[in-house]
Amino acid sequence: MSVYQNIKNILDDIGETCLKSGREAGSVTLIAVSKTKTPELMLEAYEAGQRHFGENYVQEALSKIEALPGDIKWHMIGHLQSNKAKYVAGRFSLLHTVDRTSLADALNKQADKLDINIPVLLQTNLAGEETKSGTDSGGAFKMAREADRWPRLQIRGLMCIPPFGMEAEESRPHFRALRELAKKIGAECPSSVKMEQLSMGMSHDYRVAIEEGATLVRVGSAIFGER
Ligand SMILES: *Cc1c(COP(=O)(O)O)cnc(C)c1O
Repeated sequence: MSVYQNIKNILDDIGETCLKSGREAGSVTLIAVSKTKTPELMLEAYEAGQRHFGENYVQEALSKIEALPGDIKWHMIGHLQSNKAKYVAGRFSLLHTVDRTSLADALNKQADKLDINIPVLLQTNLAGEETKSGTDSGGAFKMAREADRWPRLQIRGLMCIPPFGMEAEESRPHFRALRELAKKIGAECPSSVKMEQLSMGMSHDYRVAIEEGATLVRVGSAIFGER
């Protein structure tokens, strides 16, 4: 199957899943995850109307941003080191992986220098796995509560990567927990914090994620093939 056709099929599927779960068709945005994939392959997705792309590695992302059309919306979905803050500030529509105060400090400082605001999500790890990045629910709560420490960061929601399971259903409790956490944070934190976005769901489990309220699904291999 071509990248073009894969995009069309997944968009149909997203629309159908929305309909089945009583959600509006436009309430979910497909992010095409293009790490390690060539700009040529990405252009095939672009030709199919795809405009949101997700990248994991800063250098790779920056060279693709240079090479590809200017109307693409770029999402940083990979782990971010604080010393990369100066490269990502102002380059992405959304940073999905803010998971600690030191990174928020570094991003806020760069945003201040550039006189811009940076929309971000708090990456939250609800499974308690030590190997994965992401703060725990207490950490996400704390950062959201203290959001005024980072006036340049616009906290717009939560992101998670559940432990990989063979069955999509294994992700459901993690997606549900993320949605519930977002709801609590939204109710209790400063009004500058907006829990509008839930970035969850990948190639194997994006349907389940949509059923549980995802607004951004990050799909790589189902579009571009295995890496
Ligand atoms: C690679 C990656 C994806 C896409 O994974 P697929 O299984 O290829 O769809 C989604 N989210 C993150 C954070 C990733 O690193």
